[in-house]
Amino acid sequence: MKKIYLLILSLGMGMTGALQAQRQCGTMDHLHDALQQNPLIEQKMHEIEEHTRQFEAAGNHERVVINIPVVFHIVHRNSTQNISDAQIQSQLTVLNNDFRRLNADASLVPSTFTGVAADMEFNFCMAQRTPSGAAFNGINRVASTRTSAFGTNDAVKSASTGGTPGWNPNEYLNVWVCEIGNNILGYATFPGTATSTTDGVVIDFRYFGTTGTATAPFNRGRTATHEVGHWLNLRHIWGDATCGSDLVNDTPTHNTANYGCPTFPHFSTCTGAPIEMTMNYMDYSDDACMYMFSAGQKARAQALFAAGGARAGLLSSQACSPPSGGGTTCNTPGSLSTGSITASSATLSWAAVSGAVSYNLEYKTAAATTWTTFNTAATSVNLTGLAASTAYNWRVSTVCASSSSAVSATQNFSTTAAVTCTDTYEANNSISAARTIPLNTNIQAIISSSTDRDYFRFSNTTAARNVRVTLTNLPADYDLRLYRGSSQVGISQNGGTTSETIIYNNTLAATTYNAYVYGYNGAFVSGACYTLRAEISGTSFLRDAGEAIADEAEVSYEALQVYPNPSNGVLNIRLQPEGDLRQTIEVFNNLGQRVESVELEFSKDAPAAVITLSDLNDGLYYVRVFDGNEVQTRRILLKK
Ligand SMILES: [Zn+2]
Repeated sequence: MKKIYLLILSLGMGMTGALQAQRQCGTMDHLHDALQQNPLIEQKMHEIEEHTRQFEAAGNHERVVINIPVVFHIVHRNSTQNISDAQIQSQLTVLNNDFRRLNADASLVPSTFTGVAADMEFNFCMAQRTPSGAAFNGINRVASTRTSAFGTNDAVKSASTGGTPGWNPNEYLNVWVCEIGNNILGYATFPGTATSTTDGVVIDFRYFGTTGTATAPFNRGRTATHEVGHWLNLRHIWGDATCGSDLVNDTPTHNTANYGCPTFPHFSTCTGAPIEMTMNYMDYSDDACMYMFSAGQKARAQALFAAGGARAGLLSSQACSPPSGGGTTCNTPGSLSTGSITASSATLSWAAVSGAVSYNLEYKTAAATTWTTFNTAATSVNLTGLAASTAYNWRVSTVCASSSSAVSATQNFSTTAAVTCTDTYEANNSISAARTIPLNTNIQAIISSSTDRDYFRFSNTTAARNVRVTLTNLPADYDLRLYRGSSQVGISQNGGTTSETIIYNNTLAATTYNAYVYGYNGAFVSGACYTLRAEISGTSFLRDAGEAIADEAEVSYEALQVYPNPSNGVLNIRLQPEGDLRQTIEVFNNLGQRVESVELEFSKDAPAAVITLSDLNDGLYYVRVFDGNEVQTRRILLKK
């Protein structure tokens, strides 16, 4: 039934846009087959669910990071499928980021869901020994003679069908990487549903890791995050039914799977019309558009590791410790340094070690007694989510192919004091609600949600007609517009956190202006201020090519006309401005000497003005207009 349903959905999506690759996970089909083959599985799943309920009801769980040893079975039919160590390591890094909420895109979680976004507290390490105790680097490469893709019926888990059996699931998380085919990105076994050789997750080699054969839009390693989620007993967020239940209380009820990159907020039509958590790893969104687990999902997963839990055996696995003795020297990293320390983050780095497969970074607050371990292939880690004004310790060791080094000496650093920033200008969500700001003064304010808009009001004077607005210190991609009254006269929309500037020179009258600050595409960082400055001046603001300057669009100086030519001394100057404009007109003689300078007023209705040069001698002259950015010059012949 589900396959037919998905097919209809795909056709429906196809009509509205280009046919795009969509996430398809084989886990529920695989479960359906397993239940048919072994009816006892249903009872086992029921027991695990009961145990989960008891764990959830007990509440107040001790904070502990669970370390999961991983063996990667790379079952390849050709050299392309025999993916690189680097690609495998990239996937391990994604798992370690996503399950510790250290993923860079965690900041994209909308404020609606930040309250339930969870650090799952799972760490994944490359297995360092085989089941028989031999030294091992975590990667089991198996050349297969199979002539077709492996599908989702566990063919990859048996030597008789061209695969390789899983290792003891009480010691390892088995991850098979192979060609699955049929547009299935991956599939997993739920706890209690597999045998000792079939437990684990299977990922198609094209949707694994972040490099090599990884293919957009599934090239950010989230297929494995999703499948390991299933392996940790998480259901699809829509409960695999219309408005179904995922057995988690803090996730909204979804109509069905979401594909691609849904725009926030995407409303469910289920009871209560909640906003769907389309960015949850257990939806079907593209890799770039899923970046959170919830606290309820965490409780389900952690229940498996409580006393009597279905995966608690892994807690005593020694698979991530290398066997004692033997091997070449695996040196401890040196040149440890701590940089970029803020109130909530720091960058820890060390020198690369020859022969390193990865590094185990350990860190804790100085007051704590237990270390949090983070495995990475990189030689630097940006720790985020740290407490302000707090002392931290860290140290690092090298993981080599057959052994690990001793840990380094402990390093210490302290986070800076929390930056407190308050917005005294809210509410100012519309031009009519714009708040007056002082001139030539930096003010601070906050874009606090995806719908927050900030308007600020100020006025120029006839003596200080030139206007400049600058937006700096951006926490996210914010943009700036300038309105004269309610008419937009400038816009600056640089990407990222690049500052924005709008210069509006040579306005004529004293007028009220409104500056408008907003997050591009709903960008915001609650609690983080930006800086805005409105300036007025009697002289034109110079436009600096190095700065990003918005279009002023008031007047096209290229349209400068000077006539008649030759002139008898009465000269018409035409500038054709969009609005009111006061402009200095200068006249130079053939020797480059300025012989006249006069300030003239132009407007849309009176685009031309007159100057008189009758007291000058006949000859060649140059009429010059400078708009603060570029010079326009016209040559005239004076012949009285
Ligand atoms: Zn799935």
